Amino acid sequence: MVKETGYYDLLGVKPCATVEEIKRAYRRLALRYHPDKNPSEGERFKQISQAYEVLSDPQKRCRYDCGGERAMKEGGVGGRGGFGHPMDIFDLFFRGGAHHHGPRVDRRGKAVVHQLPVTLEDLYNGAMRTLSIQRNVICQSCGGQGCREGLDKRCPQCHGSGVEVVLNHLAPNIVHHIQTMCPQCQGSGEWVRPLDRCLACNGRKVLREKKVLTVQLDKGMADRQKITFHQEGDQAPGFEPGDVVVILNQKPHPVFQRQGSDLVLRQEVPLVDALCGCKQAIRTLDNRRLLLCSRPGSIIKPGDVKCIPQEGMPVYRNATQKGKLIVHFQVKFPEPGWLPAHQLRQFQSFFPHREEVMATEDTEEVELRDYLSPQPDLGGGKPFPGGPGHREDTSEDPLRHNVQCHTS
Ligand SMILES: [Zn+2]
Ligand SMILES: [Zn+2]
Repeated sequence: MVKETGYYDLLGVKPCATVEEIKRAYRRLALRYHPDKNPSEGERFKQISQAYEVLSDPQKRCRYDCGGERAMKEGGVGGRGGFGHPMDIFDLFFRGGAHHHGPRVDRRGKAVVHQLPVTLEDLYNGAMRTLSIQRNVICQSCGGQGCREGLDKRCPQCHGSGVEVVLNHLAPNIVHHIQTMCPQCQGSGEWVRPLDRCLACNGRKVLREKKVLTVQLDKGMADRQKITFHQEGDQAPGFEPGDVVVILNQKPHPVFQRQGSDLVLRQEVPLVDALCGCKQAIRTLDNRRLLLCSRPGSIIKPGDVKCIPQEGMPVYRNATQKGKLIVHFQVKFPEPGWLPAHQLRQFQSFFPHREEVMATEDTEEVELRDYLSPQPDLGGGKPFPGGPGHREDTSEDPLRHNVQCHTS
């Protein structure tokens, strides 16, 4: 004879119901009142879960039958009366039962992320790359059961709940319940004798498999761009397979740097070219030879920035359009003493007339000498002095990086 029937009534079962009947009742009601389906019935869902938590556990059920709800609340700890969270119970229930073809298979495996090194040429021209990955696939021999069909996989130690309840008698009337993960089944609620395990997967339900993915690199793709292979990741029974996410990782290029759809080039020209017009040959990323020409009579100053339209990167998904090739010029001056003194005057005559500065009584003549900064080289570095119009926002500039190395 039971003291109360409240929990039985909640689940709609008789006090003499078997464990299976209680389970079936809970399954039916929990799905109906789950907050996802029935947001207004949250309280009802909670009560049903509490009732199931008690009645599905032989020890708790016994205590409830003898002492009613009051006995359950006394035995518990904390404000929630010792009950588990209704969602936890729900998850436990649907995780524990292997033969419930869960109505909500919205659980997905984790995405596996792979880095794929690519060159700037790959991103300019487009390319195919293969990527070999290791992944778990459902064992075909046992169909992901881990044993033969129909075998009772319930863990004998925890009866399929995945948890063990340890009763800690603090005082004659106070019993502390401690829930721990079942050590036999590691909380999965399933355990199969070694003899009964699937030979192919040894009961693990999945096998490791090597898979080669073909990665299509489209023209104009960006460094760090992600390419997702849907559901090509790890498989697990009851889970939707996870995705494989490939992240492109562009190696630095020795000549060009990318800025969006533009390419940046650092070009050094001799002083004579800077003054008299230049022709500089460069190799493009699709292996054409470009001649960078300036008109005779035009001047290239140190730090000048010029551009060539349509010679940058192809625009992603619109590859006939290309960005600009932006050329940052550096002028290479001759070494001291490059011209014998007697030719200097002749050389001067080619330049525009300059005002001669005469020494007067109040002037003192001083000689300019080389200055060695006590500070390590700070940006006044030789390679590319920041002239007017020179942009310093290229933190990935290998040359600039070099300069910074000196300071550390
Ligand atoms: Zn198997
Ligand atoms: Zn167990």
